[in-house]
Amino acid sequence: MVPAVADTGRLRIHGVKVDAHGRCAHWNGPGDVVAIRLRCCDHYFACYDCHRALADHPAERWPPADFAQSVVLCGVCGARLPIARYLASSARCPVCDVAFNPRCVLHHHLYFDVPAALARPLSESR
Ligand SMILES: [Zn+2]
Ligand SMILES: [Zn+2]
Ligand SMILES: [Zn+2]
Repeated sequence: MVPAVADTGRLRIHGVKVDAHGRCAHWNGPGDVVAIRLRCCDHYFACYDCHRALADHPAERWPPADFAQSVVLCGVCGARLPIARYLASSARCPVCDVAFNPRCVLHHHLYFDVPAALARPLSESR
């Protein structure tokens, strides 16, 4: 059994084979360093699939009313970003400028109840 929790020194990221920067068994490229605190259990997870694998309940999304909450963790610099700032960041950490995986945008709806006005569909596909 692999450790399901990585200790970043500041807070813990839950996930399958998670590393200290928030990479996991599902997403482990150089830019997969974002962890998101889920509304349902208040834990940081490396990704949605990690939550599905480890939690005993369905994930709950953040509604737009909570987009000022700092629940997005940059696994490189440790900054906790408000959801709205993260969604506007065009796949870079606004604090340390590390490049996030641009394909994460395809999964924002799993974590955030993104209004259509804020959603930015990505033109290129995987
Ligand atoms: Zn949960
Ligand atoms: Zn994962
Ligand atoms: Zn950062």
